[in-house]
Amino acid sequence: MTDIASHRGGALLWPENSRTAFENTVKLPVEQVEFDVHPTRDGKLVVHHDDTLDRTTDASGPIAQRDWAELARVKLKNTDGERMLLLDEVIEIFRPTPILMRVEIKAGPDRTPYPGHAAKVAAALRERKMLDRTIMTSFQLDTVLAAAAEARPAKHVWLVLPTLQVDLGLARVIAAAKAANVPMLGLRQNALDADIVATVRAAGLGIGGWACNDADAIARLLDLGVDVFTTDRPDLAVAQRARRRPG
Ligand code: FE
Repeated sequence: MTDIASHRGGALLWPENSRTAFENTVKLPVEQVEFDVHPTRDGKLVVHHDDTLDRTTDASGPIAQRDWAELARVKLKNTDGERMLLLDEVIEIFRPTPILMRVEIKAGPDRTPYPGHAAKVAAALRERKMLDRTIMTSFQLDTVLAAAAEARPAKHVWLVLPTLQVDLGLARVIAAAKAANVPMLGLRQNALDADIVATVRAAGLGIGGWACNDADAIARLLDLGVDVFTTDRPDLAVAQRARRRPG
């Protein structure tokens, strides 16, 4: 079976990475929820996609240059005044559920890693005894490696940008993952086909897809039988998958 991950809590259904999104995701029969983590200036961990506040909130500027007390007053767009959530708060939403957390370790502006960020996220998950319910992801192989070193027994996925897949070539992407002991790749949905899925699996790696945000992409990835995909429309994905499994 292909697992479904509600991306940013279902970003085309509800305001991304919001309490509303996560509490609605809990009501869906999905296996995973995806969300993104940045550090605040005073060392808290907040759940937000962009490294800046501009697109999704009534404030602007980099998240990592603000203390949590300031960020807690920032309102998320398209909500009834909701604020962004701390990692701990998202953990508490999913703790009573069977849903695994797919935690993306974000970088700062220009994709510069935050010093020690993966280790801090791992420590927070360990303290909350949630590592065995977590899959850690990053687009940066070094960050995946840092997470893997710090966050056993969490699982790890290297998200591969299509440009890297093209520039490096799939064989070298696979070799890098194998050398680094990363057990699963996540490729963009339109950079996946049956040959690529077979090649990745033959190398002993798991294969996931991301950005499956419309009915066609969802159907294609269900046909390909990938291990998991992230989607901004978890409702569509759940419905399509259910139709394929009569009874
Ligand atoms: Fe993400």
